[in-house]
Amino acid sequence: MIDLSGKNAVITGGARGIGRAIGLRLAAQGADVGFSYRGNAEAAQATVADIEALGRTAIAVQADVVKPESAKELIDTALDQLGAIDILVNNAGITRDDLIMRMKPEDWNDVIDTNLSGAFWTIKAATRPMMKARGGRIINITSVSGQAGQIGQTNYSSAKAGLIGLTKATARELGSRNITSNAVAPGFVLTDLTGDLPEELLEEAKARTPLGRFTSLEDVSAAVAFLASDEAAFITGQVLAVDGGLVMM
Ligand code: NAP
Repeated sequence: MIDLSGKNAVITGGARGIGRAIGLRLAAQGADVGFSYRGNAEAAQATVADIEALGRTAIAVQADVVKPESAKELIDTALDQLGAIDILVNNAGITRDDLIMRMKPEDWNDVIDTNLSGAFWTIKAATRPMMKARGGRIINITSVSGQAGQIGQTNYSSAKAGLIGLTKATARELGSRNITSNAVAPGFVLTDLTGDLPEELLEEAKARTPLGRFTSLEDVSAAVAFLASDEAAFITGQVLAVDGGLVMM
């Protein structure tokens, strides 16, 4: 049984979807949780209540990871209210799908700014406290789209592939301080993010998945809990695919 008692986790975009499931899972394993939300305060309060119902401390911080100062405020508030940050999960992400010829500059920029730069700003803010503590776990939520590429998602695939590079470079740079950096690459999870995808695309992906179903919230949060735990102490710079075999690297 994974034991995260006494650990503090910070999750970006933790009010709903995969981020919420990760927060609940880490809390169920004993961690206190701080998380950011961008705009959905109602969802954030509901998630705080659900984590508190597990007997853990939860704090929700309104923060836009696109802005470096906002990402820093998230980390500073979590440090102030939780006391330390042992685990950082970069989960906040958006899609703005379109074909290359039709993609608007803002759709390219917003996706790179949120999914890739947002993770960097948050890592940058958390690095000093983790280095001082001589330890930490950074877990970035990438995607099969970043590993294999996806039609209509050049922006998202590029950001998620960049996140894998960021994961590996961070692992090299911070390894000497006992800070690990890994990525989790889910397949298709049925959340608000995938709600707009054509049914045929989802069914086709399921048909190509050896294990024959979509990725569940539990599949992703279990992988994150493992990478956050002492059991994963010697794993760094890796991409853990949680996709039922959809993409095999
Ligand atoms: P979701 O339900 O749409 O949730 C996205 C979360 O990101 C929300 O909590 C949102 O906050 C937050 N967010 C978005 N932009 C933000 C910003 N600028 N600053 C702070 N928070 C921001 O999506 P999801 O499916 O749970 O996806 C979570 C992560 O998993 C993403 O990185 C996504 O790329 C990745 N992923 C998803 C799938 C999938 O199939 N669903 C597959 C692979 C990877 P608000 O609630 O305040 O809007």
